Amino acid sequence: MYYLITLLVYGAVDAIACLGLSQQFGVAGVTNFGFIIFQAAGAYVAAVLALPPDTANGAFQVYIGGLHLPFPVPWIGAAAAGGLLALPFTFLVGRRLRGDFAAIGLLVTAVLLNLLVTNYRALFNGDAGVALVPAPLAAQNSMFVSTSNAYQYGFAAGAILLAAVVYLFLRRITESPYGRTLRAMRDNDKVADSLGKNLLSLRTGVLVVGGAIAGLSGGILVSFIGVWSPPAWSYAETIVLFTAVIIGGAGNHRGAVLGAILVPVGFEEITRLITNNNPYLPPNLLPSLQWVAIGLLIVVFLWARPQGVLPERKRAIPQPDTFARRVRAAAWDRTLGRIRGRRRAARPVRPSAPAGGPGSPARPRPSRYPRPAGTGPDILRAIEVSKDFGGVHAVSGVSITVGRGTLTGLIGPNGAGKSTLLSLLAGTEKVSGGRIVYQGQDITTLPAYRRARAGVVRTFQLASEFRRLTVLENLMTAVPGNRGDSFLGAVAGRRYWRADEAAAIDRASALIESFGLTAHANDYAGDLSGGQRRLVEIMRALMSEPDMLLLDEQMAGVHPELARKIGDGLVQLCRGGMTILMVEHELAIMDEFCDPVIVMAEGSVLAQGTMGELRDRTEVVEAYLVG
Ligand code: ADP
Ligand code: MG
Repeated sequence: MYYLITLLVYGAVDAIACLGLSQQFGVAGVTNFGFIIFQAAGAYVAAVLALPPDTANGAFQVYIGGLHLPFPVPWIGAAAAGGLLALPFTFLVGRRLRGDFAAIGLLVTAVLLNLLVTNYRALFNGDAGVALVPAPLAAQNSMFVSTSNAYQYGFAAGAILLAAVVYLFLRRITESPYGRTLRAMRDNDKVADSLGKNLLSLRTGVLVVGGAIAGLSGGILVSFIGVWSPPAWSYAETIVLFTAVIIGGAGNHRGAVLGAILVPVGFEEITRLITNNNPYLPPNLLPSLQWVAIGLLIVVFLWARPQGVLPERKRAIPQPDTFARRVRAAAWDRTLGRIRGRRRAARPVRPSAPAGGPGSPARPRPSRYPRPAGTGPDILRAIEVSKDFGGVHAVSGVSITVGRGTLTGLIGPNGAGKSTLLSLLAGTEKVSGGRIVYQGQDITTLPAYRRARAGVVRTFQLASEFRRLTVLENLMTAVPGNRGDSFLGAVAGRRYWRADEAAAIDRASALIESFGLTAHANDYAGDLSGGQRRLVEIMRALMSEPDMLLLDEQMAGVHPELARKIGDGLVQLCRGGMTILMVEHELAIMDEFCDPVIVMAEGSVLAQGTMGELRDRTEVVEAYLVG
């Protein structure tokens, strides 16, 4: 009987921990190899908040605190401790450090902390840990005898209830615009950055929430078993939890719960059964074999079924009704200059798409982020900007001026530094020298996400769709100022952000329709063809309502007819007030749409003018022929 209760409580504790890890690793792509330290910290804090001062028991153990606080304060304290402990780690997983380095950093920290705690007795009672932790409620109420069956069942029920609460809470934030942003960051953080997502604050949120959940699970565990012992919190326990999440299905919270039951609980159970039947088994054999089994399990799953038993499910979004979508798409089409759109506009079929409505890109809705509105003829100036990669001068001393409302072309042979220049302008890379002025303000040191919020949005030359988001989701991620696109907004619930979301679905669906991708709206972007992915990117950039759009060879791989249509559309957008700087290989496109055109070669600007003027200049022609 007692065994069943133990199993239930362990199951609930492991489920809570796995949920926290699934949120960090599966949803947000933060590989926290130090997960166990947050659980251990929560457990310790729960213990010392519940225990009387360490002198009360004859001082056979030393610990900090000993506040003897009533339930549920120790559990609340446990969650708070896990969350607070996460804060110093945000510097590891912040904006710049690559995910794998951060993961190793967390692992090393976990090992070091365990060593410190085990060897420094004055702090946490050393290797022995802390014992005699009072059970919740039992001490205060004589009706609850903590060893009675009823009490134990009550405890297990409470733990399972908390696991359910954690599950519902995580589902609420994962299935929100904020959750979508976390998944976008997981798929490609550099692109999320370029769309105005603050990676540092997103990752801080993920670490703190996961830390609090880990802390809570530790608090429940320590209240149940009554002891807190450092060897039980070794970094290897993190691996057990990771195995559980990977096998259950990373990014699927139900999978995390299933994994918790299959791996930590299942292994305990199997070990017990085998040991019971074989009294002659060497005592240390099974625990060691368990590690081998866990290693094998990870390898087998990563090889045969990396998505886990319950894979992350696709978030297909029902399309708005066809008529409304078509009408709005017609508005996009007028902008994108499609003949069909023009014909449609000629007929009086535009009842619900007034100019400036959600389907109209020409007049962007007011953004939630304040944007600088410059005057003067120039929107962007680069002054003597340079970028060195080691010894390579990718960009050296480039000065360009982009006129407001122009569709400026940027050409040059491979390796000329065009993509690097875009990266510098958008903030994806830091300049080695020089200044960048946007709308009259110096933005040289502004991080990429803040430039995006100010209206400078770029695309990437290499495929950069969020691959495990659908086409529709890719577009919706880019919408600025969705009320549900923040932690608190997500917690506030669907009702708080439903209207914003519906408007975003409308706008995105219309755009997808006018690009002819409606049949793929609910496909994973990663499953599309190369050309289609280029379209997703350009649509996504448009969804972010840029004032200044930087396109990097966006037409490569796109059908020429469609490319021409898009070119037409870009011209229209510029008439509507947008400014576009566009890298393009196809000179025919430059000829037709871009004025002026800037020519780069070997990191420097070679010439600037209309295509006609440039054709007459021998050095330009030479750069192309030679390059
Ligand atoms: P383009 O887009 O005009 O083809 P790029 O800007 O991509 O040219 O590259 C310019 C030069 O900088 C090339 O020599 C390239 O090898 C180098 N380069 C670009 N990015 C990096 C990087 N991250 N690290 C090192 N070298 C780079
Ligand atoms: Mg390039």
